[in-house]
Parts: sequence; structure tokens; C-alpha cells
Amino acid sequence: MSETLQSPAILGYDEAAALVASHAAALGPSGPAGQVDLACSSGRVLAQPLLADRDQPPFPRSTRDGFACRAAEASTHAALILAGATRAGQPPAGPLPTASAWEIMTGAPIPAGADAVMMIEHVEVVDNRVRLLPPRSLEPGENIVPQAAQARAGDELLPAGTLIGPAQIALAAACGQSTLAVYPRPRVAILATGDEVVPVESDPAPGQIRNSNGPMLAALVESTGGDPWLFPPVADTAEALDAALAQAAASDLLLITGGVSAGKFDLVEPALIRRGARFHFTGVRIQPGKPVVFAETPAFIPPAALIQNQSRTQCCLGLPGNPISSAVTFLLFAAPILAALAGRRDRGPRFALARLGGEVKSKPGLTRFFHAHCTFAGDLPEVSWLGWHGSGDLAAMARANCFLVLPEDAAQIPAGATVRILLY
Ligand code: AMP
Ligand code: MG
Repeated sequence: MSETLQSPAILGYDEAAALVASHAAALGPSGPAGQVDLACSSGRVLAQPLLADRDQPPFPRSTRDGFACRAAEASTHAALILAGATRAGQPPAGPLPTASAWEIMTGAPIPAGADAVMMIEHVEVVDNRVRLLPPRSLEPGENIVPQAAQARAGDELLPAGTLIGPAQIALAAACGQSTLAVYPRPRVAILATGDEVVPVESDPAPGQIRNSNGPMLAALVESTGGDPWLFPPVADTAEALDAALAQAAASDLLLITGGVSAGKFDLVEPALIRRGARFHFTGVRIQPGKPVVFAETPAFIPPAALIQNQSRTQCCLGLPGNPISSAVTFLLFAAPILAALAGRRDRGPRFALARLGGEVKSKPGLTRFFHAHCTFAGDLPEVSWLGWHGSGDLAAMARANCFLVLPEDAAQIPAGATVRILLY
């Protein structure tokens, strides 16, 4: 079979990652934008920049309960006459007379003429007069957020391509956006192949296993911004694969698990070749996940339905069937492509640095991604390897919260070393 593949075959991790990243950078959203209610926008991707509809904050606001004043007057510790009060929600008041202070609540507009706020905890109030208690003094601007400190009306607050989460929803709400323009979620076909693989709800016969990759990949697709389209398990025959691939052509991205190794019943690559695939790589020097395949097949989109920037090819990732291999190769290679099709600017994968909890031994030759557990309680994240019982150890992966990355040339990494972790 290999003679029918073009030359790119097994790449190092960095080379494969760079290839996927440059590919992702050239991809655009999978369809035209639509509007969704703000309340339903979490996990979607902004299709238009979010603009400030007015200054943020819209007026100089107090960050404390206390007394608006002139800092220079307050710092003399003279008793200042209480000239009025403003509660949150009331319009800006003032002007503040000289030698006076103005009672003010957190979030309320500062009266004209005041330049600072004395905190209620730092003053003495006697007979309608307020005095800043020594030894405290006050600088102009203290406890005030000036108007437009965060943004001016018309400023771009978020660019198109931002993944929407709680903070973005809060900002959009502050700008009066009850709906948002978002890109469509790319439709991602998920084909789990293997004669031994049976649906989750079935009772496996001896030698059979339940399809755990399908639901896992569906969850990963959803959390990356895609719309999973989960197929029933596909048998290891050319006919079954051809039929499933023909149906899956109506997706924006194709994920196949299993059948990409060198075994007698690993039929995915020949099936992709029959669909006219061009292969970018057919393996990467990583563990787990070495047989991972990245290919493109002609997309079956009628030319009239093509939108601007839409790819005329369909990306296809063939992920090895072992559950941990599938998870790792999804995060490393499928997620960036999917994020790009979802219109996202941040495409991952996301790495961070952590301190290694205990010594880890490796063998040079492959970049390794071992499921691991990271605690974030100390000054630096600390990562502990959970041991390796093969790339099918779902129970261990479910207790993990990251992957420990061991570079290709590493043989032994001592406890306390700074290491990279892959986040998910
Ligand atoms: P393969 O990549 O087809 O050689 O499969 C490698 C290993 O992963 C085998 O032990 C399979 O039984 C297992 N496997 C394949 N597909 C799945 C799946 N959908 N869910 C769980 N395990 C799988
Ligand atoms: Mg198989």
C-alpha cells in the first residue's frame, strides 16, 4: 500500500505540528455567520468584533464606599463639610464646594470637582463633618476609575474569532448586545473503525470492546467548537469504509479512529486513497499515536454553495484506535484544524510549564505524551506521572488532567525539573 502514498511519511513532532499549524492558518470558517442569543453563545466563536457602545466605565466611578473629596484637602486632615451624597445608580452630582466632602457608594459616579475617595474605614465622621485620620494621606485619583479607563466608545473590545465564554458574555452584556454574530459550528464526522468495536449500549461478546473513542471524540469536538456527527462503528472491510466515507463527505472535517497502523486489517489509508486523498503525513515520531495520519480529500461541496475562504478540500485525521492515542492525536493535530474551521484565532495546542514531581525515565527517539496529574496549588504547577500501562489505559487517563511532554532526546528527567505539559 505504501507505494501508492506520496513521499511525506513519518515526521518529527515539531515538523508535524508546524505543518498542521500552517494548514490551519489558511483555513477559514466553515460557513456564513448567524445570530445567537447572548444566553446561548457560550462555546461559540465571534464572527464580528465586539465594539464598546459607550465609554467603559461610562462615568468616573468610585471603587469604594466612602467620601469623594479633593485629595490635597483631605490630606491636611481638616474636617470637611459633608455637602451631599450619591448612591450607585444616581446621576453624576456636584460640583463639590471647597473644603467639602461628598458621601459616595461603590459604583456611584464621582461628583464634579472631586479627585479622590476616602474609604469609610479611614475616616472619622462627627457632626456632619468628615476627617481623614492620620497618618493616612490621599493621592489624586485614589479609589476612582476614570471615565473610559477601560475603553472608549467605538473601541474594538474583542476581535472576530474570539471563543465566547463567561467573561466575553459579561462584556457583551455591558455593551448592550443581547445577541451576537457567531460562526457556524463545523460539522465533524467521527468514524470509529474496527471489527471488535460495538456500540456503547450493546453487550460486548468475547473479543469485542465498546466504542469509547466515539463519545470521547464527540466531547473533544464539542469543547473545541465543533458539532460532532457520530457514526455507528464501521467494520474493517473496504466496502464498509467506502460507504461510511461517502456519507461522511458531507462534513467539514473527518475524524477516523482505528485502522491506521500497519496491520492486515488497517484499511483506512487505502480507503482514503480511493477518495483521492493527498497525505501530509502518515506517522509522527510520538508516543502514543505514532501511526496518526493527516490527509486532505476533495470536498464534495457544490461550487455554488462555496462561501468565501471556504476550503475546497476536506481535512481528514486518521487517529490510532487506542483511546489515549486518539485523545493525544486529537489534541495535537485535529484540534488546531477544527479550531480554524470554527473561525477561532487561538487554535492550540496549549502547553504550559510545570515542575516535575518525581523522576521520569524515557527512551530517546519519540516525543512522549504521558497522561499525568497536575496540581495548581503551589507557586508553580507540579506535575506527577501516573504510570504507563499502555495506550489503552482509560482509567488512568480519566484520573489525569494533562499530558506530560517528554522531548524526543530525553532519557531521564530528574524530579524538580521544569517540564512542558499539554493542557486539555
Ligand atoms: P487500531 O488502531 O485499529 O489498531 O486499534 C488499536 C487498539 O485500539 C485496539 O486494541 C482496539 O481494540 C482499540 N480501539 C480501536 N477502536 C476503538 C474504539 N472506537 N474505542 C475503544 N478502543 C478502540
Ligand atoms: Mg483496528
